[in-house]
Amino acid sequence: MNPGLLIVVSGPAGVGKGTVVSLVRERDKDVIFSVSATSRSPRPGEIDGRNYFFVTRERFEDMIQKNELLEWVDYCGNYYGTPKAYVESELEKGRIVLLEIDVEGANNIKKKYPQCILVFIMPPSLEELRSRITKRGTETPEVIENRLKRAENEMQYSESYDHIIVNDTVEKAADRFLRIIRKERRKSAKQSKKQ
Ligand code: 5GP
Repeated sequence: MNPGLLIVVSGPAGVGKGTVVSLVRERDKDVIFSVSATSRSPRPGEIDGRNYFFVTRERFEDMIQKNELLEWVDYCGNYYGTPKAYVESELEKGRIVLLEIDVEGANNIKKKYPQCILVFIMPPSLEELRSRITKRGTETPEVIENRLKRAENEMQYSESYDHIIVNDTVEKAADRFLRIIRKERRKSAKQSKKQ
């Protein structure tokens, strides 16, 4: 049976994960993206069901109660979580499923799926990250400081990841990511043949 491949990507907020992941999805149509649920409000341009499932805190807590989430976290005051049914059914079909989640969530997923691949996207420097978050202009100074503090903390987790990609330019980062996916796909196919 084709076992599917679970790829988890993390990196500090503002590092450009979303843009890199979009490019990867455009270029490799075999990659399925899991849309997370969140209680945070949509940013301008974000679409419900595409970027996130935007839900109320009450609905999110209901999802936790009903065990509908594979993992969830409270990140800087908002809930974020991975809907379970979709990921499980796509993996059963042997698909490559990509989760874009924070380091705490990634750690929880690794415990449940030890064979998953962890990819960390790094900014070239913390100064560059500050400038990217500030330029985005969607957060208040207080939220920016809060996210930068968490970013510094998150970067320490990168050592436990299988692959680290520096997002110096989106093109280069996406290329590196695609190469990693190809390599891991070959490895996983070889292993399932042996079993
Ligand atoms: P943002 O508000 O910038 O979209 O996301 C904040 C953080 O939440 C990012 O690090 C993002 O990767 C993470 N995140 C998004 N969805 C999920 C999820 O389903 N689970 C977890 N654990 N983190 C998530």
